[in-house]
Amino acid sequence: MNLKPRMILIGCIILAVAYGAFKWLNQASVDNQLVVYSARKEHLIKPIFDLYEKETGFKVIYHTDKAGVLVEKLKQEGKHSPADILLTVDAGNLWHAANMGLLKPVKSKKLLDRIPAHLRDKDNRWFGLSLRARTIIYNPNKVDPKALSTYANLSDSKWKDRLCLRTSKKVYNQSLVATLIHSLGESTTHDVVQKWVKNLALPVFSSDTKVAQAVAKGTRCHVGIVNTYYVGRLLKKSPDLPVALFWPNQTIGGVHINVSGAGVVHSSKRVDSAVRFLEWLTQDTAQKLFADANLEFPVSESIKPHPIVQKWGPFKRSTVHLSVAGELQRQAIKLMDGAGYL
Ligand code: FE
Repeated sequence: MNLKPRMILIGCIILAVAYGAFKWLNQASVDNQLVVYSARKEHLIKPIFDLYEKETGFKVIYHTDKAGVLVEKLKQEGKHSPADILLTVDAGNLWHAANMGLLKPVKSKKLLDRIPAHLRDKDNRWFGLSLRARTIIYNPNKVDPKALSTYANLSDSKWKDRLCLRTSKKVYNQSLVATLIHSLGESTTHDVVQKWVKNLALPVFSSDTKVAQAVAKGTRCHVGIVNTYYVGRLLKKSPDLPVALFWPNQTIGGVHINVSGAGVVHSSKRVDSAVRFLEWLTQDTAQKLFADANLEFPVSESIKPHPIVQKWGPFKRSTVHLSVAGELQRQAIKLMDGAGYL
C-alpha cells in the first residue's frame, strides 16, 4: 500500500476510535445523571440533591416551577421529555399527574416497606416522601383550647366572626375538604363548609402564612386552619408569637395529613436510576434533610422530626388513603363553590 492511502486509513481509524470514545463518554455522563422536575422550592431541595451527588456521583439536573406548570410541561413534552422524576407537593397534584398517565408504575420493595400504604399510590406511580399536617391554630390569648375539637366544629356559632381561612382555590384546602367528604359525606360537609364561611372574621387569605399571622395578631382572627410548617417558620423567627397548634379529630379519624412526594416520569429512560433515587430519599439521612428543610414530618415515624416540630408532641394522624384527595377533588371544589367558600 502506498504511503498516502495508508495515512488516510490510519487517520480514519483514529477518527473512528475518537468518535467511539466520545460517544461512550457522552453516554456514560448521560447515564450518570437524573433530571428532576420539582414543584418543591429550590432552597428546600438543593441541599438534598447536593448530598445525593456527593454520595453517589450522580448529577441531578433540576427545574423548579409550580406543580400545574410542570405537569403541563410533561404533557407537552410527551415521550421526548428529558425528565426522570416529578417531585411535587400535595397528593391531589400527584394523583392528577398519575391519572394523566405522566407517571410510571415502579417496582421497589424498599419503597413499599418504608412508606405506609395510605401515603403512596395503589399502583406505585407516586410515593409520599414527607408529611404535612393541616391543623387548627388558635391565639392562646383569645381562645381556650378546650373549646376546640374537630374541623367540623369550627362551623359552630361560637366561632362567629373569629374564624380565618385561606382561599378554597389552594389545593391544600381542596384536599382537606375532599377527605371531609370521604369521612362525613357530601351533605354534612356542605353544611360544615357553609357555616365556616358564615363564621369568617375576614375575607379568605391568599396564604397560610397570612392566616397564621392574623391569628397571632388576634384582633379579628382567633382560629384558623393551616399546614403546621407555616407556623413552624414563624415560630423559628419569633418563638413568643401568640399562635398555637391544636390537633383536631383526635377521637375520630385524626389530623388531616398530606404529603410532598414524587414519582418516576412515564417517559424516563433511566427508570432504574430514578427508582434508586426515590429509595435513597426514603433512607434516614435524606428523610431527615427532606423533612427538616421545611419543618415537615418524615414519612417514617421512627425518625425524629426537627426540634421545633418535636415540641408539638405526638398526635393521632388520619390514615385515609391519600388518593381520596385526587378522586374527590372535583367534588370538593364544586362543594366549596356551592357553599360560598371563595
Ligand atoms: Fe406549602
